[in-house]
Amino acid sequence: MPPSSEVERRDNAAGPRIGVLALQGDFREHFGALHSCGATPVPVRRIGELDSVDGLVIPGGESTTMSKLLEVFDLLEPLRKRLRDGMPAFGSCAGMILLAAEVLDTRPDAQHLDGIDMTVRRNAFGRQVDSFETNLDFAGLTGDPVRAVFIRAPWVERAGPGVEVLATVPDGPAAGRIVAVRQGNVLATAFHPEVTGDLRVHELFTAIVRAAA
Ligand code: GLN
Repeated sequence: MPPSSEVERRDNAAGPRIGVLALQGDFREHFGALHSCGATPVPVRRIGELDSVDGLVIPGGESTTMSKLLEVFDLLEPLRKRLRDGMPAFGSCAGMILLAAEVLDTRPDAQHLDGIDMTVRRNAFGRQVDSFETNLDFAGLTGDPVRAVFIRAPWVERAGPGVEVLATVPDGPAAGRIVAVRQGNVLATAFHPEVTGDLRVHELFTAIVRAAA
């Protein structure tokens, strides 16, 4: 057995263990982004894996399907509990929907996780602007604006008093709509930072996890 200081050093070098909910959706893109940030990404499909991580990414995909799979895999209540206990989390798109306290325009049986005190409208941008890209100013991120890719995205219709608004749509018919938020250690974006190669949002989340661990 190596001395514990050596084990610690190795753990630090490996970076925080960040789970990626891997039931459905674009979880692979998040593994790559987290790895590039120096974190150790861990696929999460069962309770033991959820227990082993310091933070969790909930990817884009289809929120109602993910909701159903969370129930089938017996992860819904354990995940709610970890969020109540303060586990850092980051949800992109469908992940944002799952982290909401209230969801509009979803299926009546869809579950959500209450990670952020917000109301989210699913597929909010409508059919005409199903998918689009724009540049966003993102509070706390320095450098160029963030290139944001929206794919059948939600927006935040109500952000509670404890919720920090990090980005809004700059122009067009949806100007002013909230598309990135943070409450404590929980972060959510309506867009997909995992698909652009810009690591800043994942770096921010990795820093949140590191600070909380
Ligand atoms: N529209 C999807 C949903 O309701 C989200 C789309 C996405 O994650 N790209 O879950």
